[in-house]
Amino acid sequence: MDRYDVIIVGAGPAGLFAAAAIDPGIRGLILCNRLRPGLKLLMAGSGQCNLTRGSDIRDFIPHYGPAGKSIRKTLYTWSNQRLMAYMEELGVPLMVREDQKVFPCSLKGRDVLKALIREAESNGFRLEGERTVTGITREQDHFLVTAGNRSYKSNRVILATGGLSYPTTGSDGSIHPVLRQLEIPLTKMKPALTPIYVEGYPYGDLSGLSFPEVQIQIEDQEETGPLLLTHQCFSGPAILNLSRYAAPGWKLQINWITGGSEAALQTGFFDRAARGGREVLTDLQDSLTESGCSLPRRFLQVFLKREGIDPSTKSGQCSKKQIQRLLQRLRRDDYVISGTGGYQTAMATRGGVPLNQVRQPGFESIIWPGLYIIGEALDVDGDTGGYNLQFAYASGSSCGDHINKALSSD
Ligand SMILES: Cc1cc2nc3c(=O)[nH]c(=O)nc-3n(C[C@H](O)[C@H](O)[C@H](O)COP(=O)(O)OP(=O)(O)OC[C@H]3O[C@@H](n4cnc5c(N)ncnc54)[C@H](O)[C@@H]3O)c2cc1C
Repeated sequence: MDRYDVIIVGAGPAGLFAAAAIDPGIRGLILCNRLRPGLKLLMAGSGQCNLTRGSDIRDFIPHYGPAGKSIRKTLYTWSNQRLMAYMEELGVPLMVREDQKVFPCSLKGRDVLKALIREAESNGFRLEGERTVTGITREQDHFLVTAGNRSYKSNRVILATGGLSYPTTGSDGSIHPVLRQLEIPLTKMKPALTPIYVEGYPYGDLSGLSFPEVQIQIEDQEETGPLLLTHQCFSGPAILNLSRYAAPGWKLQINWITGGSEAALQTGFFDRAARGGREVLTDLQDSLTESGCSLPRRFLQVFLKREGIDPSTKSGQCSKKQIQRLLQRLRRDDYVISGTGGYQTAMATRGGVPLNQVRQPGFESIIWPGLYIIGEALDVDGDTGGYNLQFAYASGSSCGDHINKALSSD
């Protein structure tokens, strides 16, 4: 039976960053349940690979929800600046866009993947595809890793098996029975970075319409950012980021007019209504634009109908109460959540191995020394916009560096 210094289970970005960080000259093996490595990395950023962000690393922390505080030190050490310098070193020049998102200059995730595989191989790793790991047991001085009818020995094993989203890419939970056998717990898992469905969704005909800035609230969680209307649900960055908190039956509240002055809007609209001669739709739109918070006419048309107001009614025919209720609703528009997109559409998974099961830096299991857990297999999910690949890098590199130290003192 072959014996390795390090076996990595999973050939996603976390596993590959770890392999690339481990010093050359080792005997390493990467086992992947898919024929090809890094399938999700190739999808990231619609194939362009939004690797991280150019902003201050301290600004990253709130973007990982409750996990942010626990991974702070790891992110400060294996920071976005360090990741960017590293990719340049590997021959992948990067660019920082105006919105702070970082991409390879080629806009090809393939270039990032190729560079990581090249580095992993030159360090001594060999990649075996179509090997689903179904067992890991601790023998006297090594781990025994089983994939189908093959077994491998190694002193150190890194689990980089991802979450449950986009299962066709290989992140399919096939490692979970192994974790159970090892008595490593998992927190409750659910799709994250996914659209949100609401009861009686009224905007099916407005699919494709986007709003640069709305304010969304689910329970006590709030997010301000772009929103997109689709055929059946709400989407866009602000919705995706909040989706980790969404649950059926909970209230989703949207404030469609984040800017402008409420007083100016009210006065403007009432003045117009008092003149009375024009359609309520036109007066509403003009008042919104004048007060600094314009909204698309098609959207306002649907919105008025939802309030039981025919958009072609003359403003003067609307009661003061009706107008006040309408303006109030634009700021506090409530829906009941009926569900979220499933794992087929979720860009990340909430939940996984709790962070209190690993020691940082290094991400070594507390109960199984020599076993490491990194990337999305852990209970860490970031907002959309480069935060998840940043964590794949930070956890993978932290693990790789820790193993380098351990190997040198063996
Ligand atoms: C459509 C889409 C777009 C995205 N865009 C971005 C983006 O632009 N920026 C960003 O930061 N993040 C993005 N993400 C999220 C990001 O891709 C993930 O967070 C990241 O890939 C997680 O890396 P990972 O290595 O931990 O897990 P994964 O990438 O999920 O890799 C897990 C690996 O483990 C293997 N595996 C699983 N189980 C087994 C087993 N039992 N045996 C052997 N192998 C196994 C899988 O085949 C896979 O190779 C996107 C995700 C999706 C789905």
